[in-house]
Amino acid sequence: MAERKVNFNPGPATLPVPVLETLSKHTIEYKDCGMSVLEISHRSPEFTEILDAAQKRMHEVFSVPDTHQVLFMGGGASTQFAMVAMNLLQGGTADYVNTGTWSKKAIAEAKRYGTVHLAGDTSADNFNHLPDKLEFSADPRYVHFTSNNTIFGTQFHDFPDVGAAPLICDMSSDILSHRWDVSRFALIYAGAQKNLGPAGVTVVIIRKDLLERCADDVPTMLSYKTFVEKNSLYNTPPVGPIYTVKLVLDWIADQGGLEAVEQNNAKKADMVYGAIDAHPDYYRGAVVNKDHRSTMNVTFRLPTEELEKKFIAEGAAQGLHGMKGHRSVGGVRTSIYNAMPLQGVERLVAFMDKFRQAN
Ligand SMILES: *Cc1c(COP(=O)(O)O)cnc(C)c1O
Repeated sequence: MAERKVNFNPGPATLPVPVLETLSKHTIEYKDCGMSVLEISHRSPEFTEILDAAQKRMHEVFSVPDTHQVLFMGGGASTQFAMVAMNLLQGGTADYVNTGTWSKKAIAEAKRYGTVHLAGDTSADNFNHLPDKLEFSADPRYVHFTSNNTIFGTQFHDFPDVGAAPLICDMSSDILSHRWDVSRFALIYAGAQKNLGPAGVTVVIIRKDLLERCADDVPTMLSYKTFVEKNSLYNTPPVGPIYTVKLVLDWIADQGGLEAVEQNNAKKADMVYGAIDAHPDYYRGAVVNKDHRSTMNVTFRLPTEELEKKFIAEGAAQGLHGMKGHRSVGGVRTSIYNAMPLQGVERLVAFMDKFRQAN
């Protein structure tokens, strides 16, 4: 095999090597059952055990209280944009905080089912910071945030009190990157391919009493009620991706749990931001307010676009893969999710130093 790249892709993203090793073994044969994990029935005792273990692990690792249920769905986080609104908006008003491309898409879907009140909006500044203040409507059906703005590199490190309104959060790119008080959220969703596993499964954590507010006239496969009542087994769930999420959760537990992962992430982010801030005449963080910087997606610029191109190409030639910024921001983006090893970040920082001196 070629030397493993340091993979800074925003998603699908790097996965822990021990997870890939177990997965590759179980792709041939799962636990002496004479079949691959990709071949077993979703109604088999083997998969029942996997699903159960994945849910239990999520409760443990993320401190999900028993008031909430862990669901596995298809369709990516993008389907949740519509699903949240279809189930909960019903012609009413919901508050959204517009902090980037993904929020914008969520808002566009919600507008099909009711009124969107923008509680905050940084689109005028091309999302290079979070809103300075938020203004909520009187009695919204729910309040929706994107916790980490994958493309722009901003992240909410805390959320304001939203009173009685259900707090809903797209955590696709920072779920399990640090500890949260999950009990504060009525619904959390995340496409797995950034911090949880492979593409093909979306994790939803729903407070069970939210179902009372969910509409009944929603297509079966787009109704949260279906997934709660059938424990994510109404139809064939993405068996392989769910198994992989379970392995990633085991890996987090092996790292010492979320506290250890959180510390490691802070260390990695400090290293990259430190390398940027040490030479502000050369590297410039794309996020203008340092308190709003993401620990997961670090966005920065170089003095010229030409140098940025060269930086990305030379990095790639040295095994630092996937550093091109999204076209709406330009520059460089290094995604340093949970599974990015510390050595990967060390190599990046060393490269940044050398590149600056040579160019
Ligand atoms: C990647 C991403 C999405 C889209 O996820 P899909 O699974 O591709 O639909 C949504 N929200 C955020 C914050 C993301 O990073």
